[in-house]
Amino acid sequence: MLIVQKYGGTSVGGLDRIENVANRVAKAKFKGNDVVVVVSAMSGETNKLIEYAHHFSKNPSKREMDILLSSGERVTASLLAIALQEMGIGAVAMTGRQAGIQTNSIHTYARIESINTEAMKTEISKGNIIIIAGFQGINKEGSVTTLGRGGSDLSAVAIAGALEADACEIYSDVDGVYTTDPRIEPKAKKLDFISYEEMLELSSLGAKVLQSRSVELAKKMGVKIVAKSSFNDNEGTTIAEENEVMEEVLVSGIALDKNQARVSLREVSDRPGVAAEVFTKLAEAQINVDMIIQNASTDGTTNLGFTVPQSELESARELISAFSHDIGSVDFDENICKVSVVGVGMRSHSGIASSAFSAMAEASINIEMISTSEIKVSMIVDEKFGELAVRVLHEAYQLDR
Ligand code: ADP
Ligand code: ASP
Ligand code: MG
Repeated sequence: MLIVQKYGGTSVGGLDRIENVANRVAKAKFKGNDVVVVVSAMSGETNKLIEYAHHFSKNPSKREMDILLSSGERVTASLLAIALQEMGIGAVAMTGRQAGIQTNSIHTYARIESINTEAMKTEISKGNIIIIAGFQGINKEGSVTTLGRGGSDLSAVAIAGALEADACEIYSDVDGVYTTDPRIEPKAKKLDFISYEEMLELSSLGAKVLQSRSVELAKKMGVKIVAKSSFNDNEGTTIAEENEVMEEVLVSGIALDKNQARVSLREVSDRPGVAAEVFTKLAEAQINVDMIIQNASTDGTTNLGFTVPQSELESARELISAFSHDIGSVDFDENICKVSVVGVGMRSHSGIASSAFSAMAEASINIEMISTSEIKVSMIVDEKFGELAVRVLHEAYQLDR
């Protein structure tokens, strides 16, 4: 078997933990497998590097940020390879470029375009374990790029797909995907299986156990992911194509996204085209607008509210100031969060959304905005009620049973 194993930041968060990973990797190799390992930076390292850059600049150049940030993963990859060599096991560390990972040129959020597997295959055929620095690649100009936060998950899935690996195991500090973040609701239950689609919703709505892009790619390439813990040998969660058993489950999980901000535009001139212009400009600036609400117009003006990721609030603020002649006042609020209920069963069952609203009402949590799709209901609430809302919804759908 060819196995791709990815170890996240906590799993390689110290020298003793890297040694633990070396032992786990060695075990997989001794069982007769070919093993390709993808590693993250030590936990906290990427944030520390970002802080270093912000010491010098509020808005550091993204090209240089990518060189800086890619270094964290190189440290762990080389240390793990050295640890394995010391155990008498053939191992080679590779950067993203050495592993053949070609991306586009969107620095700090690059997309993988292709993987040239030649170098990896040569090392595998020599019997070596390959340790790849995750989260990075190289663009056509030869500059280092990174794949967005949590991007080592994406490296692992892409490599598993390109090598047609038999398994893609993603190791973190939790032993699988739970009905909600077990740090928020200790009664959360581990799922044996979850569909790509539900996992994609959960990750894009805030569950960071898997990076959403990695789930998207896994679905596209048909890579089956197993999420496991590097601290025990518990059975993990399999993320794969939806099947009948999954459809019987009404709600699979609850996600919380605290990285949201709301923009409220008041007294917007009520003439055709203002909303279109605002949202076109936001889209052109790659700002991700999520929920949108427009009130009925009174006195020839209307109010317009929408949410954006907190990290994009500054850009949104600058952009909207250009519309001051058409907008009475603008208000920005970072003290909100988004709670979401996700489940493919919603497609075939009614009443799921209304029971979410009732549960929130009973707990006296005010819902400020709502959006729904076929398989999710998202609600914006005051940030201070976010975790309570997660527990209330978890209970309402009896996810602890
Ligand atoms: P790594 O650093 O290994 O990539 P992450 O910190 O990115 O790991 O992801 C693991 C974390 O995801 C867990 O510690 C947990 O708090 C969080 N998490 C959020 N939602 C869920 C969920 N539904 N199931 C499991 N873990 C979750
Ligand atoms: N180190 C990077 C991050 O923290 C990538 C990763 O861990 O997957 O976002
Ligand atoms: Mg992660």
